[in-house]
Amino acid sequence: MTSSEFASNRDNFCYRHPDRQSFVLCQRCLRTICPECQTPAPVGVICPECMKSERKSETPSQRKARRRWRGGSGTLTAVRSGKPIVTYTLLALTSFIGLVQLIPGLGPQITEALLFGARYLYPSILPFPFEPWRLLTVMFVHGGFIHLALNMLALWMLGQNLEPMLGRARYLALYLISGLGGSVAVAILDPGGLTVGASGAIFGLMAALLIIGRHIGANVTGLLVILGINFAFGFFVGGIAWQAHLGGAIVGALIALILTRTRRREQRTWQIILLATLVVALVVLVAFVPPLILLA
Ligand SMILES: [Zn+2]
Ligand SMILES: [Zn+2]
Repeated sequence: MTSSEFASNRDNFCYRHPDRQSFVLCQRCLRTICPECQTPAPVGVICPECMKSERKSETPSQRKARRRWRGGSGTLTAVRSGKPIVTYTLLALTSFIGLVQLIPGLGPQITEALLFGARYLYPSILPFPFEPWRLLTVMFVHGGFIHLALNMLALWMLGQNLEPMLGRARYLALYLISGLGGSVAVAILDPGGLTVGASGAIFGLMAALLIIGRHIGANVTGLLVILGINFAFGFFVGGIAWQAHLGGAIVGALIALILTRTRRREQRTWQIILLATLVVALVVLVAFVPPLILLA
């Protein structure tokens, strides 16, 4: 898909704000809507027009229930205003683990329990336990304060752009599958190494924003500076793998391509099938390629 082809396809933009790109569809009329036009519905989100017509057909007791449900809860308010909840949750969880790591005596144990290395995947070849969850837990543990701060700053900047545009589920899938891609790349390119950090996932978000976001005119200069520092950091500090950056970026780009080509309602099944295929391909790669390298 070329840029002009993309820009001329009105399915790619909010029907009420033709200059705003979005992947989120109204659950009722199936038109594309931007974060500002989204109101959470029992399933997915609906657009202002559909909300209006839905309210018109409400009975008085339904209206009362809606008003009551609406009051109070801060989370619901946040959801309605399109706040990047998944980004905040990932930030909170990762920073919390970073704080716990600062507790003397506990830090090294936490790092050791969550870090990733190919050695934990092939118990028949290497004398280590089989702990495949490390492929994902590695994203939540960092090698020091600067490493953590750089990644969390990048996550915050990227998430604010990407999460409202993609919707929560797609955004979370992008983050986790990119992180998996980073670990798989480490296992293949550096089977003897150990790694920590969310960098694979972060570089996946970055690649996706560059592919998806060039159409929205997002200011990516600040982001590129942060990621440049992060990338350079990987060459000087042990435990941060450039292989994870590379794998995350490739997988993030693939996911962005899948999402841009399957955003219509009737393509949703295809979107899920393609994303699942990507995960299976990564698992097959990591199951078979590093053992061949290790045994060679
Ligand atoms: Zn609608
Ligand atoms: Zn809009």
